[in-house]
Amino acid sequence: MKILLLGSGGREHAMAWKLHQSVWTNPLFIAPGNAGTAKLGTNVALNLSDFDAIGSFCIKENIEMVVVGPEEPLVKGLYDYFQASEELNKIHFIGPSKQGARLEGSKAFAKAFMERHNIPTAAYREFDQTNFEEGIRYVNEHPLPVVLKADGLAAGKGVLICTSHIEAVAEFELMLQQNKFGDAGRKVVVEEFLDGIELSVFALTDGKNYVLLPEAKDYKRIGEGDRGLNTGGMGAVSPVPFASPGFMHKVEERIIKPTIEGLNKENIDYKGFIFFGLIKVNGQPFVIEYNCRMGDPETEVVIPRLENDLVGLFVAAAKQELHTVKISIDKRSAATVMTVSGGYPGSFEKGFAIEGLDLEMPPDSLLFHAATMEKDGQVVTNGGRVLCVTSFGKTVTEAVQKSREVLKKIDYDGMYYRKDIGYEFA
Ligand code: AMP
Repeated sequence: MKILLLGSGGREHAMAWKLHQSVWTNPLFIAPGNAGTAKLGTNVALNLSDFDAIGSFCIKENIEMVVVGPEEPLVKGLYDYFQASEELNKIHFIGPSKQGARLEGSKAFAKAFMERHNIPTAAYREFDQTNFEEGIRYVNEHPLPVVLKADGLAAGKGVLICTSHIEAVAEFELMLQQNKFGDAGRKVVVEEFLDGIELSVFALTDGKNYVLLPEAKDYKRIGEGDRGLNTGGMGAVSPVPFASPGFMHKVEERIIKPTIEGLNKENIDYKGFIFFGLIKVNGQPFVIEYNCRMGDPETEVVIPRLENDLVGLFVAAAKQELHTVKISIDKRSAATVMTVSGGYPGSFEKGFAIEGLDLEMPPDSLLFHAATMEKDGQVVTNGGRVLCVTSFGKTVTEAVQKSREVLKKIDYDGMYYRKDIGYEFA
């Protein structure tokens, strides 16, 4: 099967690694890809906002399956673009329709969806220009902390947890009156703060049936002990020790099933991944957010634990036959540790040569590139989060230890990584 995978991060390298293992894959294209994906297929320089270019490439190469890594093309309607074309609508497309992607693309849509389907989430109200004054009063009377969320995609920066009413009102005004987040902040969700521990659960759905993938926990802060600024993700572990079978049963009954049934009832086309960002409060699960794709770096621990053939799973999803599939998961723990550029998540430089990439990997470890490129025959850094090492172990701690051993042999100017991924499970 001729496959085109869209994206260029660690998530896509992990998916390319898994797709490459399938006997069905031939050939594999990755657009735009990175220096790691280039070893598993052919990188193609496509701009993911240029739907015409993606479509033309698929026609020219007779692509039979498209797998979308990041959210942006989905939120902008790439699925619908393919559906509208007779030359493209037979292609197996892994990723939801524009309407389905609103679960991630509009926080107000996601909250209303959860309300319609009785899915547990923080209590909320939404505000825009038309009820701004009412919003100010609401924010002022809201118990602290209060959570403000820009409705649209804001590159992971649109959520503010405010600990004083003065701050909350100021931020509310900045979003609605001063366009702090541009179009993304024209509507604001104000919600109750939930105090608990977070984890992520992933499903692959065909819009009617679903299979559950292993759950994961990621580490967002730049500093050890979960301190400092937020990042795209500094590491992840799977399984999550506090995700007991009893808790996961509640997650499935109260959250996963009603979500898939809701999509089905509302006739929303959805053949792809759903990322459930959950929080466990007093033993009960609540949804913090939906994403319409896999997470990064969670994919780098989830996909290596998946024992099924990924192309087979995607074909079953595309044909709405996921009820015939049984998922098989590696029982071992997996952990990934991400290295970043010096200065990240603030300003940083790119283009530093990476040493140690040709080392032989120990049998329980995998190296995924997140932001690298090849320049004059050298692999160089090409972004904030640069590469990650995933390892397996009997425990999370053992897996992290193995990744750290590998990372000691890799180096580039300014390289930094957290040494305490999985610390609370040691
Ligand atoms: P989101 O972009 O919705 O995932 O929010 C980013 C982060 O903000 C989440 O991963 C949580 O840590 C935090 N957060 C969002 N909503 C809430 C909430 N209602 N209560 C507590 N923390 C929240």
